[in-house]
Amino acid sequence: MKSESFKSTCSYCGVGCGVVISRDQKGAIKVTGDETHPVNQGMLCSKGMNLHYVVEDQSDRLLTPLMREGKGYGLKVVDWESAMRRAAAVFTSLIKKYGPNSVGFYVSGQCLTEEYYLINKLTKGFLRTNNIDTNSRLCMSSAVMGYQLTLGEDIVPTTYEDIELSDCIMVAGANPAWCHPILWRRVEKHKETNPNVKIIVVDPRRTQTCQLADLHLQLIPGTDVILYYAIGRCLIENQAVDREFIENHTDGFEKYLEKVMQTSLEVASQVCGIPIPAIQLAAKYIGEAKGFLTMWAMGLNQSADGVAKNLALIDLNLITGQIGKPGSGPFSLTGQPNAMGGREVGGMATMLSSHRKLADPKHRKEVADFWGVEDIAASPGLTATQMVDALESGEMKAIWIICTNPLVSLPDTNKVEKALKHAKFVVVQDISNKAEAIPYADLVLPAAGWSEKEGTMTNSERRVSYLRKVKEAPGEALPDAEIIIRFAKMMGFKGFDYGEMSEVFQEHCKLTKGTNIDVSGLSYAMLKERGTVQWPFTSTASKGTTRLFLDKKFFTANQRAQISVEENIATNEPLSEEFPLVLTTGRIRDQWHTMTRTGKVNKLKQHISKPYLEIHPLDAQARKLVENDTVMVIGGRGKVKLLVKITVDIRPGVVFLPMHWGRIFGSDFARTNNLTGNAIDPISKQPDFKYTAVQVSKF
Ligand code: SF4
Repeated sequence: MKSESFKSTCSYCGVGCGVVISRDQKGAIKVTGDETHPVNQGMLCSKGMNLHYVVEDQSDRLLTPLMREGKGYGLKVVDWESAMRRAAAVFTSLIKKYGPNSVGFYVSGQCLTEEYYLINKLTKGFLRTNNIDTNSRLCMSSAVMGYQLTLGEDIVPTTYEDIELSDCIMVAGANPAWCHPILWRRVEKHKETNPNVKIIVVDPRRTQTCQLADLHLQLIPGTDVILYYAIGRCLIENQAVDREFIENHTDGFEKYLEKVMQTSLEVASQVCGIPIPAIQLAAKYIGEAKGFLTMWAMGLNQSADGVAKNLALIDLNLITGQIGKPGSGPFSLTGQPNAMGGREVGGMATMLSSHRKLADPKHRKEVADFWGVEDIAASPGLTATQMVDALESGEMKAIWIICTNPLVSLPDTNKVEKALKHAKFVVVQDISNKAEAIPYADLVLPAAGWSEKEGTMTNSERRVSYLRKVKEAPGEALPDAEIIIRFAKMMGFKGFDYGEMSEVFQEHCKLTKGTNIDVSGLSYAMLKERGTVQWPFTSTASKGTTRLFLDKKFFTANQRAQISVEENIATNEPLSEEFPLVLTTGRIRDQWHTMTRTGKVNKLKQHISKPYLEIHPLDAQARKLVENDTVMVIGGRGKVKLLVKITVDIRPGVVFLPMHWGRIFGSDFARTNNLTGNAIDPISKQPDFKYTAVQVSKF
């Protein structure tokens, strides 16, 4: 074997850093940052730097398909033909007996765009159900609705270059210093060079991100909307809004004005737990900025009122006219590497390909005609947590889980466990034999991992990159796309005869033609030549689109942005005497999701090696707790046992747990989502991981 180097993209977060994968003559892999890449210019965070350990360590890889003859039987090795035949026979029989909505797919923002495209085509076009949802439902669906309701399209208008052009950045419900580290390095560098740049952080915890902040608004969890309205009110009273922009390019300001004036600063201050001068200072920084960026992540999205929080934050960009110009705009930080690519192909139960709308008969016909199928069902499919409900109630009989670990990552995991036990047929398609759903699977399919297959991904700034296949997958593992194609063919469906993966990508690109996310000008050849491209990129474009709405024409019907207020804000789980503390969950710096990859790397365990509970000294004192005591955290649905970390970095009344540990990497009781509940945002259907009522006591 000759030694070679290949450019690719990091497979962890939505920052989308470029990497160079070097393979030596013995086939050993090394991963370094790509110095020519526009996102990271050679930098990598701890997770990216250790990617090669994950690629090299094959100890937990699934190597062959495994099948159970029936419930209660053990898993046995089978060949691909038998595995596919069984899957097709069960799906055919369930659909015949109970209808197409009795089956569903639950996939992942880690999937490549081509894989996402094929699963959607198979499910929505050929199985005739819209029951295809993704773990992006747990991540970005509130932001999707926020963009759609304000800008008329699920579109991030900004680019990373806007960081260096902004002079005020408001980071809300996010800890990018840990969770989007390379993006945050750019913010740090910008602030270092330009000390007058103002950084505002909104978070109930004083995180690493706050170290750079000029102002930390340490709000009471769940009060974000009121805080943003209070800041909006100050901006209006200070005459720091952009009247010309509001008048000529937006609708809804009168209603917004009425809404924000209903709550006095005194009341907002009390509700949010933020002093009035701090609210006023935030408004001053924003009002004085020439370029104002809002950045947010799960603190907003993962809430029962996630859409309302998104709208209230984006409103701050709209009333100040801080959008559609360099250094300005709303900028949601995507969690997973390809959550955006998944949305492009309509990878959710509520979406259609190329951001077309399921509810629009014209859109459904366009897609059905393109795929050569009769029609597409009009009703939205079941979303992630709705699928769990449907499996538990028996309404849904079969689920096919791809590249995600719902028994650690979904809320109320004890309920998920019951649902999987109750399902008639469970398929788990994964790279790792540690996926917690495997004991409940009737069929286990070994998948190829990062660098073992080719395809594309889109990062947080709409940047599409091509990922090469660098090495063979171990054993009989196959690329996810190949598995889906084999299943579709076994089902007897036409339209899955692809010679090369590039043909799948070309088909997706063609389907976007004429839409707001048109990438009909892209091809593998071009991406290999150019490196990466930001969409839209039409068939006549000569370069990608750095930022959108420079012409102030939005994607709403009348091309005006909608300043939106949400009247029916969903309520959080109420606190009680029994459960008086608010539990919020999140990531730690060196681990990724459910640790099936980062959990294998010793270096990544050195930062934080065990799950822990963060609690304020006042709450610890009231419970007679000292540092490193073992505590039981108890909520309405389950409990978690772990060590306590006492810190003034969290608000009194609030406790924090990292989300990563499941049963395999912790004790039986370390699974954080034993505690989280079933509240979902009524519009986006995104679950709330940020507000669970719990009690903590010494164990
Ligand atoms: Fe990978 Fe994200 Fe780290 Fe970049 S910031 S190296 S994309 S995990």
